[in-house]
Amino acid sequence: MLRLKKGREARARVHPWLFKGDVAEIGAVEPGEAVTVVDFAGHFVGRGFFNPRPALCCRLATWDDEALDEAFFARRIAAAVARRPDPALARLVWSEADGLPGLVVDRFTDVLVLQSLTLGTAGARATLVAALRRVVGDLPVLLADDATAARLEGFEPARGWVGREGPAAVDVREGPVTFRVRLGGGHKTGHYLDQRENRARVAALAAGRRVLDAFCYTAGFACAALVAGAREAVGIETSAEALAGARENLALNGVADRARLVDANAFDELRRLERERARFDLIVLDPPPFTRGRAAVEAAARGYKEINLRSMRLLPPGGLLATFSCSHHVTEARFEAICREAAGDAGLRLRTLATLGQAADHPVLLTVPETGYLKGLLLERV
Ligand code: SAH
Repeated sequence: MLRLKKGREARARVHPWLFKGDVAEIGAVEPGEAVTVVDFAGHFVGRGFFNPRPALCCRLATWDDEALDEAFFARRIAAAVARRPDPALARLVWSEADGLPGLVVDRFTDVLVLQSLTLGTAGARATLVAALRRVVGDLPVLLADDATAARLEGFEPARGWVGREGPAAVDVREGPVTFRVRLGGGHKTGHYLDQRENRARVAALAAGRRVLDAFCYTAGFACAALVAGAREAVGIETSAEALAGARENLALNGVADRARLVDANAFDELRRLERERARFDLIVLDPPPFTRGRAAVEAAARGYKEINLRSMRLLPPGGLLATFSCSHHVTEARFEAICREAAGDAGLRLRTLATLGQAADHPVLLTVPETGYLKGLLLERV
């Protein structure tokens, strides 16, 4: 049992995170176990998983008086799957947003990739895998825990197949584009599903254009643009593993002859291209998070401003810039302001054609803003 301080139950009803400062009393509960949360007067508030190690000591999974067992997980997973527009290639479970805090599940056709972000979901791994298989079938499951989350929460990050081995790679289709997802290596869980809708959106504008895909990972945007008829694409990336994946994807889609990959720091390469007075009529900027904490937001803002400013200078009139930030602490409003400053410094007028966000399989809860992180702008040089 975990008893809240007076008045803390109101927030706890709409936001699942409880901090140590919210808690008046902790009854008998082991780290990682399910715990019943009550208000100061002892009335039931919800049930979640407890971890005394981080400041965020409990994440509520339910506001009903129900057990957090395999049947519960299966119900939540089934509801999440039913919300996905394409459940064969999707983030099936997006943590808090799907009522399963600390759990991420991606499905790449015949393979499931499971990520535990909390001690609670790490401890419940076997039950979660059973629940998952009950809902989606007996598919191979790869564990791909995040090392940073594991350190914070105090568990051993699991990496590898549960029981029988799955394939080393799987080919997935996003409309007319094929991507080879390497399992067990790579970033995130292998493929950036959150950018799927944006890849299609950018591709729809790409015909005949010369494209720059900066921070390209496995050339997702470049492949989509080239398949859609882009004249040429240049990808910039520092990771050798990502570059190998990019080469593979370009070849798979039969567009390698129109693509060039540059093994370089995008900051340096953008500066070089600017000096060279290079021109691109479609630029994608999709950098990694420049900050994971609140403290480094100013430094991150400088980074975003620099790459956006330099990219804008590479655009001819009518040129397009699809620019993104996946740093949670950089808000949409802040990101827009950064891009506005960059345009101001570049002395260029840009039209906002669209605001962009994470794909529909990464739902966002209004009362849990932490579920939203990816924001972007589609800009056109006037
Ligand atoms: N747009 C991609 C995802 C990009 S993820 C997609 O749709 O799949 C960001 C990528 O930036 C990662 O692959 C990372 O290796 C790379 N990266 C990080 N810092 C970099 C830098 N300074 N220069 C170039 N690439 C960088």
